[in-house]
Amino acid sequence: MAYDPDNVFARILRGEIPCKKICEDTVTLAFHDINPKAPTHALVIPKGAYVDHNDFAARATDAEIASLERMVGKVADMLGVSEGGYRLISNCGGNAHQDVPHYHVHILGGRALGPMLAK
Ligand code: AMP
Repeated sequence: MAYDPDNVFARILRGEIPCKKICEDTVTLAFHDINPKAPTHALVIPKGAYVDHNDFAARATDAEIASLERMVGKVADMLGVSEGGYRLISNCGGNAHQDVPHYHVHILGGRALGPMLAK
């Protein structure tokens, strides 16, 4: 799928719409999800134009991949969910119900999250 530069996360990255920023570096941004599904619900995204995890894994630089992975761990620590446990989700494509076509990792925590998937 071609990258859509008008998706909502691209607009956040361009500063066209606000976000509740947690932290960032030159290639990665973390912010709070606007519609949290758990007491803690953060999103970590690359600043580069990648549609989904497959695209990111195939085309991102090692530096971009390392930054995103490390920022996921850092945000979990900052938001206080590392000790109690948290879940990472990255919806990729149609079967996974990916709504925003810019690669992102959800960090969910702050309560017992139950089984991994709804039946
Ligand atoms: P997904 O279904 O994995 O693509 O998830 C997209 C996520 O983006 C959902 O959890 C939305 O609540 C979240 N979202 C959509 N628009 C915004 C926004 N403007 N700021 C923060 N999170 C957003």
